[in-house]
Amino acid sequence: MKLTNEQKLTRIRDYCVDFLEREKEVTNRPWSIPHYSRDDISCNCKYVLADGYCGAVCTIHHSEERGAEHGDNPPPSEAKANGTFIASSRTFAPCAAEMFIGIVDSLIQMSERPSITHYSQDLRDGFSIGGEFYREYLAGIKESIIARWEAHHGEITRQEEKV
Ligand SMILES: [Zn+2]
Repeated sequence: MKLTNEQKLTRIRDYCVDFLEREKEVTNRPWSIPHYSRDDISCNCKYVLADGYCGAVCTIHHSEERGAEHGDNPPPSEAKANGTFIASSRTFAPCAAEMFIGIVDSLIQMSERPSITHYSQDLRDGFSIGGEFYREYLAGIKESIIARWEAHHGEITRQEEKV
C-alpha cells in the first residue's frame, strides 16, 4: 500500500515522538566533549562526561596508528569526530525532534484551514490561483521534508515501520 505524503509525515512525526520518549530515560544533563576530541586541551582522555557522575556516560574508542589495535576501532581522526558528535547530539537531537514536531503540526493545521481567503488576498493573481499556489506551496514543503528523511532512512512504505 502506497502511503500518502500526509501519512508519511505523520509517520516521521511518530518517529520523533518515540525518540523523545527514549530521550527521557537517558542521562538528563549536557554531555561533555571528550578531551581527546578537543585540540585546545592536551589531555587525551576519551570520556564523555555528565555533571553529577564521577564516571562517564560513554568512552570513545580508536585504533592506534600502529600496533596490535590497528583496524579494530575507528582511526583517530574519525574517533575524535565521534566524541564531538555524540556529546553534541545529546542536546541537538532532541531539540531537532521537538522542532520537527512543531513544523509538522503547523503544516497540518495550515492544510486543514477551512478558508484560504486570507492567504489569497496578498496575491495579485486572485482567489483561485492564490489558493492553488498556497496548496502547492504546502505540498512542496511536505515533499521536501519527506525527501530529506527518506535520503537518510530509506522510503517510508508502511505505517508500522520503526527506525
Ligand atoms: Zn582529560
